[in-house]
Amino acid sequence: MKIILAKTAGFCFGVDKAIQKVNKALGAKNLYTYGPIIHNRQVVEEYEKKGVKVIDDIKQLDSVEKGTIIIRSHGVGKQEIAQIKNKKFDIIDGTCPYVKRIHKIVEQESKKGKTIIIVGNPKHPEVVGIMGWSSMDTIIIEDTKQVKKELFDRDKEYCLVAQTTFNYLKCKEIVNKLQKFEIRVMIYETICSATEERQLEAVEISKKATKMIVIGGRHSSNTQKLYQICKAQCENTYHIETVKDLVLNVFSDNDIIGITAGASTPKHIIEEVILNVRRTKL
Ligand code: SF4
Repeated sequence: MKIILAKTAGFCFGVDKAIQKVNKALGAKNLYTYGPIIHNRQVVEEYEKKGVKVIDDIKQLDSVEKGTIIIRSHGVGKQEIAQIKNKKFDIIDGTCPYVKRIHKIVEQESKKGKTIIIVGNPKHPEVVGIMGWSSMDTIIIEDTKQVKKELFDRDKEYCLVAQTTFNYLKCKEIVNKLQKFEIRVMIYETICSATEERQLEAVEISKKATKMIVIGGRHSSNTQKLYQICKAQCENTYHIETVKDLVLNVFSDNDIIGITAGASTPKHIIEEVILNVRRTKL
């Protein structure tokens, strides 16, 4: 059996930064994260044991003791930041610098009167947060089917950004279709290279692998995308959260096992999986 581990598997720069901020703040009185700090149940549970509570809604702040809120790497809207401050909570901003860059673009371009186009999943917290920095109308596009001529006005100006974790090929298709309408649109490249590199490496590994393991939270959008990308190349692709989901008897001596992991998967979970896959050989 051969194991190929992706070099890009695990925490990305932004998640690592946010996690370091939580670790630094541990021990502070009344510590909260605004939404789960990362899309990884195990990590969130470990922090809960250390006293870090998850706040899901601004309204919840009225019923908890004053303290410090950590903003996760996805970021939040401008209004939420103001509301948290108004309620006299301290803020530790764990927004990834790449997401912050999008907030700035959207804030500045919408101030100039441009309609904002966001390529991304409308339900994803990062997209919801980005929307919250626009002072103009916002159009969210997730699929090429949604790119319709009647949505756009040649008299208007547009600014396009993408969710950092969006599939870059899909984004390209959306942009190509949009450009055919000859509207005035300023396009900013905002897909994170960490995502692109992880996806490209996943394609290469899953082409060679007989079986592919994708490790990451069930609700992590970048892990789900990785799974889809790998599954398109390697029929026997398994999405697992931890070693507990691993079905060991599906692996044989002749297998080439590819392993990759989403941006919110801690190193120790990846190592446990590798160790257990190796044990199947013993
Ligand atoms: S994927 Fe990229 S943009 Fe998103 S948190 Fe990680 S480094 Fe930041």
